[in-house]
Amino acid sequence: MLKDESLVSSWQSFFEENCRSEIETIALEYPENRSLIVDYWDIDKADPKLAEMLVNQPFKTLFNAEEALKNIDVAAEQKLQLHFRVRDLPETQKILIRKIRANHLGKLAAVEGLVKKRTEVRPKLQIAAFQCQKCGAFIKIEQDEDILKEPAECYEDQGGCGRVSSFKLSTTLSTFIDSQKIEIQENPEGLRGGAQPERISVYLEDDLVGEIGPGDRVIVNGILYSMQRRRGTFRLTSFNKTMNAVSIESQEMAFEEVEVTEEDEKEILKISKDPDIYEKMRRSIAPTIYGMNVEKEALVLQLFGGLSKEMPDGTYIRGDIHTLLVGDPGTAKSQILAYLSKLAPRSVYASGKASSAAGLTAAAVRDEFGEGQWTLEAGALVLADMGVACIDEIDKMEETDRSAMHQAMEQQEISVAKAGINATLKSRCALLAAANPKLGRFDEFIPIHEQINMPPALLSRFDLIFSILDKPNRTTDTELATHILLSHKAGEMHEHIIKSKSPLFSKDQESVLMEHVLPVFEQEFLRKYVAYAKRNVFPVMTDDALEILKNYYVDFRSSSEDSVPFTPRQLEAFVRLAEASARIRLSQEVTTEDAKRAISIIDQYLRRVGMDRETGKFDIDIIATGISHSQHERMRSIIDLIKRLCNESPDGNASRSDIISEAEIEGMESRRVEEALDRLKRNGQIYEPTHGKYRIAE
Ligand code: ADP
Ligand code: MG
Repeated sequence: MLKDESLVSSWQSFFEENCRSEIETIALEYPENRSLIVDYWDIDKADPKLAEMLVNQPFKTLFNAEEALKNIDVAAEQKLQLHFRVRDLPETQKILIRKIRANHLGKLAAVEGLVKKRTEVRPKLQIAAFQCQKCGAFIKIEQDEDILKEPAECYEDQGGCGRVSSFKLSTTLSTFIDSQKIEIQENPEGLRGGAQPERISVYLEDDLVGEIGPGDRVIVNGILYSMQRRRGTFRLTSFNKTMNAVSIESQEMAFEEVEVTEEDEKEILKISKDPDIYEKMRRSIAPTIYGMNVEKEALVLQLFGGLSKEMPDGTYIRGDIHTLLVGDPGTAKSQILAYLSKLAPRSVYASGKASSAAGLTAAAVRDEFGEGQWTLEAGALVLADMGVACIDEIDKMEETDRSAMHQAMEQQEISVAKAGINATLKSRCALLAAANPKLGRFDEFIPIHEQINMPPALLSRFDLIFSILDKPNRTTDTELATHILLSHKAGEMHEHIIKSKSPLFSKDQESVLMEHVLPVFEQEFLRKYVAYAKRNVFPVMTDDALEILKNYYVDFRSSSEDSVPFTPRQLEAFVRLAEASARIRLSQEVTTEDAKRAISIIDQYLRRVGMDRETGKFDIDIIATGISHSQHERMRSIIDLIKRLCNESPDGNASRSDIISEAEIEGMESRRVEEALDRLKRNGQIYEPTHGKYRIAE
């Protein structure tokens, strides 16, 4: 019924003329290789009518093309049965998922997006063998739909008895094909602010199966159709949009999506020589937000990123820079994240309060989508692969995400092993996160990890942690207020001019006001600049720069003997920031200037969050473990003291007053001792059997 002899012969002559040598190559590798992939435009060039039919009646046209392929006579060990896969469809067939309408159904279309979910590979019946319960003959029925097709009678032409009978399916004699269902979600770039991305289910078969995974960016070319929705065994009148994939094109490089013309290149090269480039870049990040100059400079560096490195021994070192903003409510943290997610290509904005089962990382779930099978679903960090993941309220992330987060941030992979699913997903993204303090306000004098609900080990994986305080100050308050109010006034004037019938203000008045909220570089240009730098600039450290970083590290560690200020992890952060700094100038060398810039940024961050408030020295221990080195030492000596007092006393307890007075003799302030006792008790290292008496926990 589908077979159309004239269509078959048109295809046959197309293949003979255009694809012969390719089919011969496939024949050598058959059956591992069993698909002929053809560009739409090659068909259009040779036979425009055929190309048009392909788009409008894809089911019939593809069927006859595959029939024609069977007739192509090439030398092969076995008879070829090839899939015909078309790619590179014309623009008219590229349809946004949210724009798919009833009139697209049954047509060939290209849908672009991110793979959000993927089910296990499951076998699907291709040719079903049924045994007649009356005569025992086997009847074969080709299955080309989702619902199982049974024989109407025991067909005589297949050696059956010709009677109407009941049949039993024989799985051993049937042939199966691999199938898989994936879900494609619209690319975040195409979304208008805040809109929920729309999704479509796509069925893959045979050699398309297993090729792509969650987080991949793809264009799926396929036939759109609708599938009747069911509730239990009832069939509903509404249908779901689905697609049968014909071919898949994957998009590997993020920044290749940003087109840089020759003219752009000239402009980029010119600007890279501007001595004020760093300041101009900084002033192009969220200009409506007042202040935050260090944070903005850091965000510029984060956009450019360092170099990820594949070492000869197989280890991987990330180049992406992770930043955390912690601070008081209403300090524009969310605003900054939203801005950056719009600026950076392939970025994803999500909240720690997970909205889907996959949360921030990834998960294996069993839901309606999988129709009883396990599904692998990607979370924000996977979807932001090769981009920037902006995660707001990261402190509220799910417990299940926490463990996966370590691996996601450092190795930039997420492993999921559950039920039939065993997969490793890539999460090569820079993380920009924001967190609110547990107690509502940030307290400079309490270690960061106690204030936000995040383990120290995870915090130490951020290259930079900025605390943003909202402290009243006449000068800055005045400036901030002026800035915010003027931005609003500029916005008002803009709306006024475009919306009122007879505006009272002129365009010139508007531009004067707009001046201070306009970025130096437009977003579009900045994106091109970053893309150009990431594609073309791979800077190498000069000996001088290396020396500066080394000396800084060594000096810092030795300058305060009783404290351990830096770990090698911080040193890596220096390198990444210095590399990013060189990229901004499009320099293939990391110079001393870059090394110094990296040092100055880290310095400012440590000054704010890594300072030991007793000694006034930087101490990375505070970030890594939540307690400074000096606190640690003190807790150790107090434990020793309690041990001694317990041994000496008849009831085996050490009283609070004794501990404090003995410790004072050793030169510790009573306030600090009380603080340490509380902490030791909280940690479970000591306990209080009766009020005011302590013992060491065994
Ligand atoms: P957070 O996420 O830190 O709680 P938001 O991003 O929601 O804060 O910001 C609250 C509001 O205050 C936003 O409308 C933001 O524009 C404004 N705001 C806060 N700080 C600044 C600033 N420094 N400059 C301009 N606007 C600011
Ligand atoms: Mg917020």
